[in-house]
Amino acid sequence: MPYTANPTPDGRPPVAAVTGASSGIGAATARALAAAGFEVVLGARRMEKLETVARETGGRALALDVSDRASVEAFAASLPRLNVLVNNAGGALGLEPLAQAVDEHWRTMWEANVFGLMLMTRACLPALEASGAGHVVNVGSIAGLESYPGGAGYTSAKHGVVAITETLRVELLGKPIRVTEVDPGMVETEFSVVRFGGDEARAKQVYRGLQPLVADDVADAIAWAVTRPPHVNVDHLRVTPLAQASATLAHRTE
Ligand code: NAP
Repeated sequence: MPYTANPTPDGRPPVAAVTGASSGIGAATARALAAAGFEVVLGARRMEKLETVARETGGRALALDVSDRASVEAFAASLPRLNVLVNNAGGALGLEPLAQAVDEHWRTMWEANVFGLMLMTRACLPALEASGAGHVVNVGSIAGLESYPGGAGYTSAKHGVVAITETLRVELLGKPIRVTEVDPGMVETEFSVVRFGGDEARAKQVYRGLQPLVADDVADAIAWAVTRPPHVNVDHLRVTPLAQASATLAHRTE
């Protein structure tokens, strides 16, 4: 990875906390930031997977459920210091039209993608400000910029992430904290397997006949944004596969 973390005033490596680092984009981001010189702290619920990624990155694995306030506060309290927070934990459940919306799916999506992002950010802002050069990166989605049939639970949550990112940027004006949102299109991770309740065949269909992004592609965008000089704020990156023009329009060869 050709990126290098900005130096800190006391010469210690900057610390990056990545939520949802047990798989997919979060795990790839932890690896990319470690390669750029960050000390990484990884949070997620599945400790075995998280510890594997932590070992690969030389980072620290901490149990974290972003939708649980006590868990978030314990995570934040155990950070030695903090320069970068990557709010990546989240995902989608189901693809039912609104008429058949599943309460529990909606609740879980909103709790992880929206409420959890608020809890994490609120808990980490003091340490980010104290660092003198903090950075919040929110992983949204093109589902936060567009809508599609059956997607209302997820698209409404990710539209919420856009609103939070924009609010945070104006609230933090004048403070030394950058705010970036990265909105990926299709990335082949555990995302669709989770969305379809473990149905791997259905998940595979999402990426049928096209080359999706891989987690490293998104991690690369995040690592690029956080390693720009401290006066440069990358507001928003929308990153899609070449074969995807919008949330509903993709070019497939089969
Ligand atoms: P993934 O492989 O399923 O990873 C999701 C991560 O979030 C896992 O590490 C999971 O860890 C964690 N997570 C979920 N709920 C959590 C909670 N309550 N507390 C803590 N961690 C939680 O999917 P991914 O594609 O990497 O997704 C990462 C982010 O990218 C998500 O916000 C997703 O919405 C977004 N995104 C994905 C795509 C895509 O096509 N893949 C596109 C646009 C945006 P545990 O289960 O171990 O807790």
